Amino acid sequence: MHNYLGSDGMAPSDLLTAGRAEVRRYGVELLHDEVLAARRESAGFAVELADGRSVGGRRVLVAAGLVDELPALPGARELWGRDVLHCPTATAGRCATSPSACWAPARCRCTRR
Ligand SMILES: Cc1cc2nc3c(=O)[nH]c(=O)nc-3n(C[C@H](O)[C@H](O)[C@H](O)COP(=O)(O)OP(=O)(O)OC[C@H]3O[C@@H](n4cnc5c(N)ncnc54)[C@H](O)[C@@H]3O)c2cc1C
Repeated sequence: MHNYLGSDGMAPSDLLTAGRAEVRRYGVELLHDEVLAARRESAGFAVELADGRSVGGRRVLVAAGLVDELPALPGARELWGRDVLHCPTATAGRCATSPSACWAPARCRCTRR
């Protein structure tokens, strides 16, 4: 992990472990499941989980992330995250120390500099 203030070089799994320990100190119960649906109810929201449970809350924060669509180039998937990187700006340190090529759609802001 890079460019994360106070945690540069930390393993991503260590960041997750630390974050989970922090929220537990506030009394948060963590559930590991897939959310299938969420619906409005009179007192908030109900969220349906894949294991059949339904949990309620006053608010729903959606943090489902993004999925990077890799180009159909041979080897791209195998090298993803190490030698094939998603953003030349975010990974500038690694790109600066070795020859790099950039494949990007025209709308990518990173390549317009
Ligand atoms: C190769 C790579 C390297 C990176 N390196 C760095 C770095 O060095 N430093 C840095 O700061 N950032 C880095 N990033 C960016 C960083 O990983 C993201 O900005 C960050 O993970 C975004 O967090 P998020 O919680 O929004 O989404 P995510 O981390 O994608 O988390 C979303 C989670 O929601 C889950 N989810 C989705 N749908 C459902 C559902 N229906 N039910 C239940 N769960 C669901 C997913 O399984 C996932 O676990 C990197 C990204 C990549 C791809």
